[in-house]
Amino acid sequence: RAKELGRNCFEFFSNDQQARIVKAREVSEEILWGLELGQFIPFYQPQFDAHSGEIVGVEALARWDHPDKGVLSPFEFLKVAEDINVIDDIDHDVLATVLNDLKFWEEQGISVEHASVNISSPRLRDENLIRRLKELQIEPGRITFELLESIFLDDRDLVVERNLEKIKQMGIDIEIDDFGTGHASIIGLLNLEPKRIKIDRQFVTSIDTSDEQRRLTKSMIDMGKTLNIEVLAEGVETEGQAQVLRELGVDSLQGYLYAKPMSAHDFNRFMQDYKAQVKAS
Ligand code: C2E
Ligand code: MG
Ligand code: MG
Ligand code: MG
Repeated sequence: RAKELGRNCFEFFSNDQQARIVKAREVSEEILWGLELGQFIPFYQPQFDAHSGEIVGVEALARWDHPDKGVLSPFEFLKVAEDINVIDDIDHDVLATVLNDLKFWEEQGISVEHASVNISSPRLRDENLIRRLKELQIEPGRITFELLESIFLDDRDLVVERNLEKIKQMGIDIEIDDFGTGHASIIGLLNLEPKRIKIDRQFVTSIDTSDEQRRLTKSMIDMGKTLNIEVLAEGVETEGQAQVLRELGVDSLQGYLYAKPMSAHDFNRFMQDYKAQVKAS
């Protein structure tokens, strides 16, 4: 009977669920191997001054350079990585590579002064975060951490607060990603003294067609202005959207309209072309 139960155990799950469990297990094993082999790398997407058009920064976005499946986006691994508690290792590897790339570009005479890097909530809760960051010897002013509003929805977390304090002491700026989607309290966010907020793509998408989205976005931009916080709009895909955002007074723009995220190699070339253009004009 036990044997029968054992076999039937699997029948608690539908075929669909079984397939998902098996898949998740396969993916987790592959992720662990991928980490071992350094397959998690940053892609880079430039950010532009909304008025001068100059490049003002770059966001590093994690990719899984998978040997068989090609370059995979975060949607294909972040959730599982979080479930098996290795998302902080991925973040760490990505950040370490970003620092190397910044150095390399400097040697190439390409000035990318600083990079924004996404940091996961579990990593912000990690007691070892500061020690690990110190190992990387990050120069003040070179790195900005993008964090999601949702980190402030939890109860006051002392580790998070201490980590954020120390991060700032190390000269790493804080920026709020996907602003307007997380329902966090404005007061909580402002206590962080973020350098910049990033208005989520969801607002940008219909900004030139929906009066409501436009007014919502305007209120976020005005808030930034009042509080002296820079405002970037992400996910800009059309000139129409960019136009409205400029009129509303946004500081900087990022999106497929200008450039998609690129490998370090492609970004290097992109910057060489950009430099040549600036020189020529
Ligand atoms: P995010 O930080 O809000 O990044 C913006 C996402 O929008 C990126 O997707 C980017 O490639 C995409 N994007 C940029 N411009 C456009 C556009 O004009 N149109 C559209 N449709 N999309 C655009 P990606 O690279 O797939 O990353 C998805 C999310 O995964 C990121 O959202 C971020 O939350 C997370 N993520 C990415 N890299 C890392 C990382 O290194 N660590 C952690 N913890 N999370 C990361
Ligand atoms: Mg981001
Ligand atoms: Mg975002
Ligand atoms: Mg996002």
